[in-house]
Amino acid sequence: VSLDPEVDRFDYGARIERAAAATTAAGYDALVITHLPNLLYLSGLESSSAAGLLTSEGRLYLITDFRYSAAVTGRAAQVGARLVPVVAESGAWAPAAAERVAADGVRALAVEGDSVTLAASRRLEAACHERGWTGELATTGGIVEMLRRVKDPAELVVLRDAAARLSDVARAVIRDGCVAVGRSEHEVAADVDHRMRWAGFSRPAFETMVASGPNSAYPHARPTSRRLEAGDPVVLDFGGVFRRYCVDLTRTFCLGVASAALDRMFEAVFTAHAAACAAVRPGASGHRVDAAARDVLTAAGYGEAFGHATGHGLGLEVHEAPRLGKRRPGAEPEPELEAGVVCTIEPGAYVPGVGGIRLEDDVAVTPAGHELLTDVPPGWSADSR
Ligand code: ZN
Ligand code: ZN
Repeated sequence: VSLDPEVDRFDYGARIERAAAATTAAGYDALVITHLPNLLYLSGLESSSAAGLLTSEGRLYLITDFRYSAAVTGRAAQVGARLVPVVAESGAWAPAAAERVAADGVRALAVEGDSVTLAASRRLEAACHERGWTGELATTGGIVEMLRRVKDPAELVVLRDAAARLSDVARAVIRDGCVAVGRSEHEVAADVDHRMRWAGFSRPAFETMVASGPNSAYPHARPTSRRLEAGDPVVLDFGGVFRRYCVDLTRTFCLGVASAALDRMFEAVFTAHAAACAAVRPGASGHRVDAAARDVLTAAGYGEAFGHATGHGLGLEVHEAPRLGKRRPGAEPEPELEAGVVCTIEPGAYVPGVGGIRLEDDVAVTPAGHELLTDVPPGWSADSR
């Protein structure tokens, strides 16, 4: 009997097999997985306290504590022999993992460096050494994340559904005049969050952002008690988690008549957004998609005003691989986009004293190019609603 029918649509055995092959290809006999979204991806277990030992033979020892013992046993019953449940003392996964490392004769062992704490990796190393292991713990990253980048058909079904629901929320917000003169940013945010719940989302994917007037010039502003005024630009950025998958959308509204400076900025961001969407196809790099938006904004004089990346991957996390941004100095080139990648396209421009504009949609890379998952009018002036 499954405890959670929503997660049983995925082939976890195949995922574990692919992750094991990627671990072997990276030169390790086993990988200790501490990033919880990676464990959710490989097992369907959503837990606040778990670790996994993934061996190159394609077995995932999923270590959790008493609170999740029924859940982990249920997952193993669903997934089959590749998933081995282990119940340990709360917070004591290291000795349990070390036990398996010794029993399975693992030599090259790695941890996920971006998520494991230094203290936990030292405890793991000590526990392994106590059991006669003579290796040195390696640090790695991105092994499971690189698999999660490309969504399988079952994931695309969920993401498409989620994006349609988020679009419904956005259209209702526009239709019902939720973003209106006299309301506070807090009130608008609470309204949007409430509507997301009713649309089937289990929670917001991040704190809903409502940034009005001067606040709109800050790309990551948090809602305040400021009341919306005529002539304000209002950036509304919200996302929801639906069946554990995240979607993310931004529209910028103008309350009444916008200044000429804001109108010009909106036009540039709108054009940059269209250029970036058009650049999304298999074989394109994230840098190339970013450049498509950045070139438009730079030519319009907003190069300095666009200080963030053009987009990010969407999935079990709201920010995941790939990153569609400028190449970071010294960083490895990002792998090319391929069919099944789902990401946001969200160029923006922010000028203190004038205001900010951002437009964000969710797209899936398809064999022929891309599919727009979100479907909402661009917003802005009253005429375009
Ligand atoms: Zn967003
Ligand atoms: Zn985003």
